[in-house]
Amino acid sequence: MNSQELLKELIWFDTTKCFIDGAWEKPVSKKYIELFDPSNNSPICKIPRSNKSDVNLAVQAAQNSLSSNWGSFSSLERGRILNKIGLLVQDKIDRLAKIESLDVGKPLTQSKADASALARYLEFYSGAVDKIHGETIPYQNGYTVYTLREPHGVTGHIIPWNYPMQIIGRSVVGALAMGNAVVLKPSEDACITALAFGEICREAGLPKGVINIVPGYGNEAGEYLSNHPGINHISFTGSVEVGSKIQQNASKNIVPVTLELGGKSPQILFEDADIKKAIPFLLKAGLQNAGQTCSASSRILVQDSIYSKVENLLVKEYKNLSIGPAIQDYDLGPLISKKQAERVKKYLSLGEDLKQLVKLSLENNEFEKGNFVLPSLFGNVQPDHVLAQEEIFGPVQVLIPFKDEEEAIRIANGTKFGLVAGIWTKDGSRQMRMAKQLKAGQVFINNYGAGGGVELPFGGVGHSGFGREKGFEALKGFSVIKTVAVNHG
Ligand code: NAD
Repeated sequence: MNSQELLKELIWFDTTKCFIDGAWEKPVSKKYIELFDPSNNSPICKIPRSNKSDVNLAVQAAQNSLSSNWGSFSSLERGRILNKIGLLVQDKIDRLAKIESLDVGKPLTQSKADASALARYLEFYSGAVDKIHGETIPYQNGYTVYTLREPHGVTGHIIPWNYPMQIIGRSVVGALAMGNAVVLKPSEDACITALAFGEICREAGLPKGVINIVPGYGNEAGEYLSNHPGINHISFTGSVEVGSKIQQNASKNIVPVTLELGGKSPQILFEDADIKKAIPFLLKAGLQNAGQTCSASSRILVQDSIYSKVENLLVKEYKNLSIGPAIQDYDLGPLISKKQAERVKKYLSLGEDLKQLVKLSLENNEFEKGNFVLPSLFGNVQPDHVLAQEEIFGPVQVLIPFKDEEEAIRIANGTKFGLVAGIWTKDGSRQMRMAKQLKAGQVFINNYGAGGGVELPFGGVGHSGFGREKGFEALKGFSVIKTVAVNHG
């Protein structure tokens, strides 16, 4: 069975339509974008190329839902319906995972983890939404002052191709929980599970217009959405370059923005680290989803005295990696597109002056049809080298030696990003000192990523963006405070 036939067996909705006002609609544009299986570059389906009219209809439907049904739902009622959506996602984890592997090219095990995370976000937010509330504020005699936490209104969500289900979970679901109505613009490179989510919401009985999905190109549907005067908040996940544009667009309408952008996240190993425990984290955090992860740990900082030992252990692990089609669940799948593979290879050519520690090969010539890039590990890299500074978004890690704590901090903080950082040391005082000084939105001590942690606020500083998603912080971000002061004499 080829990829297209396999996908046809898995989907139960029409990928060529937009989801607007609770129904599947042909795009007004009558134009479509073809999607390809990154593992072999064969076409798998077509999705709408939404235009300005499609986006207008989606925003209008979202506004209508706020003034009719959704606007009057209590937090308990919203929680209950999100819970129902979560149970339906849970039932479909295997199916959603296979769809994602065909669309994004990520190994099946990773796709299953993403689908499970989406179900978990729905579980978390459905339970959290009636536990977040305003406050009463002590004020002058004769007054009672309290705050109300209210939705922004219509929230626009522009998301990338690398983790569609997880990002829908942390962004769209958080916004819905707080009573916003959503317009979602998924990526033109991978969008099928986003459409599946629309259908699942419909099946669960989410009122019409509460979620609207308009697939399309960034410079068309994405631009219209981020400029639309009917949008009250924008959540953007993607590149720094586009994030900056989104912020400029939103500023014209004075609309708040959450920007979840890129990273060049370090893991730092001191000589007292539990190296055996650290190695699987170093590897997974760098190579998961073939390195196409915003929080990928692409820099590994190692104290001089243990440098050779860590390098040898990592080389051994790299040599055992298997690379092949996503649906067959190799350790690493392909990159999303030929364009992305070319981009990563261009970076690798800038590393010709460096020491490449492993040479791997594809086990089957057939795989050459896909967008495969073999993983690369570079040793003894200078912290200011381009490969140690820029986000490559591919299976590439650099090892950087350091002398002491001060130098480790300087190197770790020495890029324009600040998303995640990991520290490996048994010294409790050092853990605290480092955690305080690291420029990052999340710091992990003797672990990395804490298994995703939907409860843990996530976001960056510097060029990694601002605003927080995940956990209760996301619910705060997807709502605004209204202060009510009552003078009762
Ligand atoms: P991208 O910025 O090219 O695209 C992201 C989304 O923006 C897509 O839906 C795209 O269609 C849309 N877009 C593109 N141009 C637009 C425009 N002019 N106006 C409005 N929308 C536009 O990013 P990508 O290549 O899809 O994803 C990779 C990037 O995303 C990496 O830099 C990665 O670090 C980042 N990312 C960050 C996080 C995080 O949480 N911090 C998570 C995942 C990915």
